Formats: sequence, structure tokens, C-alpha cells
Amino acid sequence: MSEVRVRFAPSPTGYLHVGGARTALFNYLYARKTGGKFILRIEDTDLERSEKVFEEQLISALKWLGLEWDEGPDIGGQYGPYRQSERVHLYHEYAQKLIEEGKAYEVYAYPEEIEQLREKLLSEGKAPHYTREMLESYNTPERKKEYEEKGLRPAVYFSMPRKDYVINDVVKGEVVFKAGSVGDFALLRSNGMPTYNYACVIDDGLMKITHVLRGDDHLSNTVKQVALYEAFGWPTPVFGHVSMILGPDGSKLSKRHGATSVEEFKSKGYLPEALVNFLALLGWSHPEGKEILTKQELIESFSLERLVKNPAIFNPEKLKWMNSEHIRMKSMDELVKIAKPFLQKDVDDEYFAKILHAVKDRIEELSQLPELTDIFFEKPHQLPEKTPEAIETYTNLLSELKKIEKWDKDSIYAAFKTAMKSAKLKGKDFYMTLRLVLTGKTEGPELIDILEILGKDEVIERISLYLNK
Ligand code: GLU
Repeated sequence: MSEVRVRFAPSPTGYLHVGGARTALFNYLYARKTGGKFILRIEDTDLERSEKVFEEQLISALKWLGLEWDEGPDIGGQYGPYRQSERVHLYHEYAQKLIEEGKAYEVYAYPEEIEQLREKLLSEGKAPHYTREMLESYNTPERKKEYEEKGLRPAVYFSMPRKDYVINDVVKGEVVFKAGSVGDFALLRSNGMPTYNYACVIDDGLMKITHVLRGDDHLSNTVKQVALYEAFGWPTPVFGHVSMILGPDGSKLSKRHGATSVEEFKSKGYLPEALVNFLALLGWSHPEGKEILTKQELIESFSLERLVKNPAIFNPEKLKWMNSEHIRMKSMDELVKIAKPFLQKDVDDEYFAKILHAVKDRIEELSQLPELTDIFFEKPHQLPEKTPEAIETYTNLLSELKKIEKWDKDSIYAAFKTAMKSAKLKGKDFYMTLRLVLTGKTEGPELIDILEILGKDEVIERISLYLNK
């Protein structure tokens, strides 16, 4: 088999959403698995909606996810340019070929006339399918003259063969499009820009794309694309249409369900490794049902056969769990670097590493860090009630702690023990009240870790604060 060439072809009209990111990921994984090429193509022919900043954001989100491409607008490649707006000459050149072969034709109709035609067909109870005869009826000599005088160009339409098309989709299986289910459609608009279906085929064809893996919202477009491949005599790529991503309530995933863009997950403190792992399992499953997978493991185990037909459910709780698992898999040095920006404080790496070590198991999103670690930076806002038992107990403890020369877990434990021996507060009560005295909270990292990290001076200060309140 020839080298696998797959592509991700986003339109730069907004942030990269989880659906797009998943499409990119499946293509990436397939390319890496097969030793093929992964291509990034920017589909920016919708001039009104496309923006350069969205392209930049897409690129940075893909890079952050670690889905690096082999050919693309920023790095070039053998089949460039990789931005559709720079390929317009090609769309014209190939449209001309089809016109010469009688497979496409010019149409001198104004967009509102096409709209009227559509409405007329619908009002007659017919499908809005255009025929060559209908569309060429606008091409009167007067109209052509008018176009010439106004400097307008005719649109170009494809003469869609009226025959059955069968697509063997690697995800959906055999999909049949009955003859006449699609009418003639535009290749070039009167503003000279190509339509999506046309540009997509020219690009996939010229870029030698072997597999098209994308969302199943494009399944119905595929029949037009296959007809175009046939018209050019080009081999048709293998298609795989992955099912939609649904929210936990079963409706199409949208803003209503919370964060949906890669940028949002990044700023909430998700690791790219966790997001990649999570997205891979939305519509694909590991042969042994493994859930926590590194990118390398995903590459090794990926196959098109395991893409699933059913819609995938986006479960934010599962993503949180995966994130905490991937956070735990990081080395402390790496975690310090990644987590530092989320702390929003200037603290030295060694001290931060100790804190991270103590709270690591409780992090689901790195953006929780300020809240999870505030006890190390701020004195408690609320102190427990002063009872005679507590005063006696922690006065004992204070004097034991003051004696410590080498501040470590063993010596702190020893001080606890001695203090408890002659104290009224024991066991659970001793520890729980001490936690409140030191942090003002009922929950948090291990108490011994808190004392060790805070250090002797700070612990003494906080206990004294309580005893003197
Ligand atoms: N630009 C199209 C989109 O973003 C690409 C679809 C395709 O992969 O063919 O939906």
C-alpha cells in the first residue's frame, strides 16, 4: 500500500473545539501508527467568517496538544500551499478542465435567483435539486453582457451524474446514495471562490490524501466529493466518518455543557496528555479496554477498526479523573514547571515542589492550586474555640516543638507523642483541632506534611496565635 496521507482541514472561524481536536487526533494517530504523513490544511475560503487570528489560535492549540504535522501552512511541504485562499488559481484551472469536458458549466444567475428557484421547487413539493437545463436558462446574451459590464464572473456548477453511489465508510459501513438524491451543485461562486465540497476534493486529490477521517456531519457531502473524484479520474480516498460528540444529557455537545474549546481546558489546568487521552476514547476504544494511555501507547494501539459507530458522550467528570491521573504520572520537576503559572505566586521551586507533593493527589484541575495551597501562604482566617483542654494540650505541644533542633517528620511525631501523653486532647481530637489551629480548615493535606512544610517558626507562630487569641 502506498504511504498513508491524512489531513486535518479546519476552517479558521473560531476556537478549536473538542470535536475538531478529536478529528485532528484520530488523523494524527493514524499517520503516526502507519508511518504516514499528517497534513494541516487551512480551509479559509469563507472570506466573511475566516480570520487570521483564528488560524493562529488553531495552530497554537494543536501544538499545545502535541499533534505536530508534517506539512502545513507554517512549515510548507511538497504539495503546498496549504491555505485554500492561496490555491484559488488551482480551483479555477481544474474547473476549466471540467467545463471543457462538459462535466461542469457556467451559470449567470444572481444568488437571489438561485434562492427563488429553490423556493419555487420546494413550493411545488419537489426536492430543491437543480438541473443543467434550469440553471443554464439564466445564461441569456443580455445577462452575459450585464455580467461583463459589471465585471462579474459566472458561477460554475457541476453536472451531478444521476446514478447510485455506494461508499464503504470505515466507520459507518456501506452507505448508499440513491440516484438523484443530489442535484447539480456549485463548484465556484460568482465571487470566484470555491465551495467547500469542490475545494476539498481538489486539495485532497492534489495532496494525495489516502484517508479522510472526519466528523459524520460531512457524511452527506461525501457523495458530491466522490462524484468529483470520478469526474477527474482520481482515486477516491478511504472515508471514515466519526460519530458526533454528545453532552452528558445526550444532546449535541455545546457551550451549554461547559467548556468545549481546547483553550478553555488549557486555561483550567488540564494537561495536554490528559485531553489527548480523553479525546481518543471518544469514539475509539483500546483493544484491552485500557483507559489511561500515553500518546505513545495511543499511537501503538490505534486502528481504524476500533472507531465506533455510536455517538460518544463527553463526560467532564471522567476528564477530571484522567487529568488527575496524568498529573500523578508527571515527574516533580515537570509538574513544578507546568503548575507554577497556576499558583499565581512567586515562590521558589524547592518550596513549591514540597507543597505540590502534599496536594498532588487532590488536584483535578491545576486552576484549583491557589485554593488547595492557600494554607501554606496565609494564616488561618478562622480559629477553633479555645477550651481549657486545648489550651493545655497545645501549650505542651508548643514547648515540645520549640525544643526540636532538626525539623523533620520524625521529630515532629515525637513531639506529638510527648505532648499527647500528658494532655487532655488525644488521638483524633488532638489532630483535628491542631489542623484547625494551623489551617482553619477541616480538610487538607496530611497534617504532618503541613507542619513540615510550614517550618518550625511558622508553626510556632500559628499555635501561639491560637493560644493568645
Ligand atoms: N473545513 C471543513 C470543516 O472544518 C473540513 C471538513 C473535512 O474534513 O473535509 O468542517
